[in-house]
Amino acid sequence: MGIPFVDLKSQMNRIDGLLRANLDAALNHCQFVNGPEITRLEQELAAFCGAKHAVGCASGTDALLMALMAKGVGPGDAVFVPAFTFYATAEVVALLGATPVFVDIDPVTYNLDPAGLERAIRAVAENNPGLHPLPTVSGLTPRGIIAVDLYGQAADYAAISVLAKKHGLFLVEDAAQSFGGEQNGRKCCAFGNVACTSFFPAKPLGGYGDGGMCFTDDEGLDEILRSLRNHGMGRERYEHVRLGLNGRLDTLQAAILLAKFTIFPEEIGLRQAVADRYDALFKDAPGLALPTVLPGNRSAWAQYTLLAETPERRTRILDGLKAAGIPVAIHYPMPLHRQPVFAPLGYGPGSLPVCEDAAQRVFSLPMHPYLTADDQAAVAKAVKGA
Ligand SMILES: *Cc1c(COP(=O)(O)O)cnc(C)c1O
Repeated sequence: MGIPFVDLKSQMNRIDGLLRANLDAALNHCQFVNGPEITRLEQELAAFCGAKHAVGCASGTDALLMALMAKGVGPGDAVFVPAFTFYATAEVVALLGATPVFVDIDPVTYNLDPAGLERAIRAVAENNPGLHPLPTVSGLTPRGIIAVDLYGQAADYAAISVLAKKHGLFLVEDAAQSFGGEQNGRKCCAFGNVACTSFFPAKPLGGYGDGGMCFTDDEGLDEILRSLRNHGMGRERYEHVRLGLNGRLDTLQAAILLAKFTIFPEEIGLRQAVADRYDALFKDAPGLALPTVLPGNRSAWAQYTLLAETPERRTRILDGLKAAGIPVAIHYPMPLHRQPVFAPLGYGPGSLPVCEDAAQRVFSLPMHPYLTADDQAAVAKAVKGA
């Protein structure tokens, strides 16, 4: 058996009895849409994160979409997003007819660079592309920011929240990769006006299919999010007060997630131990930069991502891992401002140099709570050998 990138089977074996009991209970009550498991999961996860409200939904992408819809985002709005993230972060902005304004990342954490963010906000407000590269869309109004907690580490919320307040922008935390992480004692999913996470199977808390959740302390937003996920429903059944989605979390997924959540805090500790072992294995390896978790942050370790000194060196390492039968991934090979779909926004090569460089040099190794020291040694040997 090879080393899996993510090991869902070992996890499943640990909670087999509870999983089947939870699924049996749902099969017995037959409330497959809006079943009682949804409310239970929302309450447990909100309490875990320290958020007042949680709203389950169909995916992390829908969570982001609903957050923007709740804020009334539409054509003419500029939403600031990092260019180095999964596509969904910017996709939802454009789906609503608004314009993503891409911002470069911090070279150490790969998260949104607050200094670049401030320049980008001013550039849009003053319509001055000399301050920061701007999309070729005129008359934009700065509306909001989506900060991403890439690889499991929270973005710089101290700095980003100040900028959001100063410029009157809403802030969404894209916590799809960081559920279980924390910053200065506060859990991820508790930052911004709305935080959004994903239960895609490979995420730190993954289901057996798609799912997601919004978190907020704002009672008004909570009510709108609940309506949005259910076709913009009003107080009465078949009364619709806004345009919404069929964006509900599935009852069976909630039943599965409730079982998985019982061992989740322990798994976050196991992920940290795996990351620590990788750090020890790679700390003296020449030409490789380790992932850096800043003081005050605890990563959820969705990914363990190294930086090779040069693109050529990364190619050699990827070839070496492939030859050894070890899975590897690149998060992400193409920054969003250079994606074909966003070509009409006119961002040229070199416009956001830090993420363009990182895209050519990062690579992610197998990461899951059940990775053994022996398997990690085998991974390290293949990387170092290359
Ligand atoms: C996975 C992910 C999403 C989308 O979540 P889905 O549940 O797959 O829709 C959004 N943003 C980031 C940063 C992600 O990693």
